[in-house]
Amino acid sequence: MTKTLKQLREDARGCQNCTLWANATQTVFGAGDPHARVMLVGEQPGDEEDKKGLPFVGPAGRLLDKALTEAGVDREHLYVTNAVKHFKWQLRGKRRLHKTPAQREIDACHQWLEGEIAAVKPHVIVCLGSTAAKAVIGKDFKVSISRGQFVESPLAPYVFATLHPSALLRVQEDEDRELAFKQLVNDLSLIKKALARD
Ligand code: SF4
Repeated sequence: MTKTLKQLREDARGCQNCTLWANATQTVFGAGDPHARVMLVGEQPGDEEDKKGLPFVGPAGRLLDKALTEAGVDREHLYVTNAVKHFKWQLRGKRRLHKTPAQREIDACHQWLEGEIAAVKPHVIVCLGSTAAKAVIGKDFKVSISRGQFVESPLAPYVFATLHPSALLRVQEDEDRELAFKQLVNDLSLIKKALARD
């Protein structure tokens, strides 16, 4: 039987299916409209998300909000989650810096993402970055090659991938960052196109 988001969230709270729980503050489960027609999947919680227990509330989340607004998509109507629910990090000075999750950690956490997709039944799934694309579309999917294109998936009628907003935060030159932002907005505008096709 399909579990509700409430049940899944409770179960995931005590998850120790991989070792990431040990160094994180808490499980950061998905949040948003439980009946959303659009689900955004990111990589993993960052430092701020780990402390607050909510996805996409840090710098990358704020950039995502800005890109969604420009693409004409209201975050209030979305369900937002991550492929991996605990923050993986390494200490650099006093800062906890993001560390990319390993495939084994993506696999270990997949049951929660699968449960969320089954409970929400989104019409559109947007993978933000390579980790999310690997978890949703497949291990060989390359965001750099196939971003902004709908791919066939048994998980939802419309699935596509784009860059994770945190990748834009790492771009040094203003001009390059502005261009990357425009491309992100352009990709996110596929959400409206997919909803309009229904
Ligand atoms: S990252 Fe996922 S699989 Fe690993 S302990 Fe956390 S919730 Fe469980």
